[in-house]
Amino acid sequence: MRAAERGGADGVVVTHLPDVRYLSGFTGSSGVVAISGRKASLFTDGRYTTQAKAEVAGMRVAIVKGSAVGAACAWLEATGARRCGFQPEYVTVAQLELMRRSVSAGTRRSFFRPAAGLVSRLREVKGAAEIEVIRSAADLGCELFDGVLGSLQAGTTEVEVAIELETQARRAGAERMSFETIVAGGARSALPHGLASGAKLPRRGFVTLDFGVTVDGYCSDMTRTVHLGRAQPDERRVYDAVLEAQVAAVEAVGPGVAAEAIDAAARQVLRAAKLHAFFTHSTGHGVGLEIHEGPRLAKTQRQELVAGMVITVEPGVYLPKRFGVRIEDMVLVTDTGHEVLTWSSKAYTEL
Ligand code: ZN
Ligand code: ZN
Repeated sequence: MRAAERGGADGVVVTHLPDVRYLSGFTGSSGVVAISGRKASLFTDGRYTTQAKAEVAGMRVAIVKGSAVGAACAWLEATGARRCGFQPEYVTVAQLELMRRSVSAGTRRSFFRPAAGLVSRLREVKGAAEIEVIRSAADLGCELFDGVLGSLQAGTTEVEVAIELETQARRAGAERMSFETIVAGGARSALPHGLASGAKLPRRGFVTLDFGVTVDGYCSDMTRTVHLGRAQPDERRVYDAVLEAQVAAVEAVGPGVAAEAIDAAARQVLRAAKLHAFFTHSTGHGVGLEIHEGPRLAKTQRQELVAGMVITVEPGVYLPKRFGVRIEDMVLVTDTGHEVLTWSSKAYTEL
């Protein structure tokens, strides 16, 4: 609410579903939260009558026939709100038009105000209960990774590895995978986003696994890269450099540290190894109800880390058409420094 007030709003309409869940507890696929002063309501439709009443705490539930966002905006106007903050990152042009038509013609012109980052800033710092859920998701991810190592064999397809991982994940209680599983073997490990394909794992070469599970709505995210057969000296050199960069960046994590400093810690190691030109993405991101959320760990990100944030640290080096290595941990920012949540070994491993 405060972020919206700074933008001159006394009401807000929240349409982004992870934010709706965060504020209300509602997990359905269609719902809008509206807040006006001290009053708050969740608007959803008849499919969710029972579920919404069971899940939502601390606000009224309104079941509507037409558009939930339209009803939310009409309600905000009726409560006396004069300005309504909305989420410009998520509201489509068509939705904004519908919202405008839901309030009276006289109000319409000046009612809606974009309020970027409305809920996302709140979500960056996790509470104790959220951290426990994230910890259990990270634990499950590590158990799954250790369990799937035996399936990493020459001739097995990447998709077969992903199926094994995902089947075990569901058996162990994951609601779903947090994102499409990345299994990238041999030259495909040079693709930072090599989704599991029909390609067979090589007799000799790296395999990168990047995956996450969702537990109680919260995501895990981890990457490990292992080598099948004996590595060439340059493969080993790259692995060691990425590991050193990753450890340096993790060690830099703590409260009050600027996000860009974590990124710089990884880049500095890779620069010394003359590999920085092949590190083509940012160093990490916040993770929670969404797989990618704030803060961003990248150049020019001055935002300071705060105890309770959960971030990933994931430098990588990608040599096109040859091979790539990425190592990713989830790291909790604590009052005194940090705690690595993903405990699977990242020591160089040959299978
Ligand atoms: Zn990842
Ligand atoms: Zn990640």
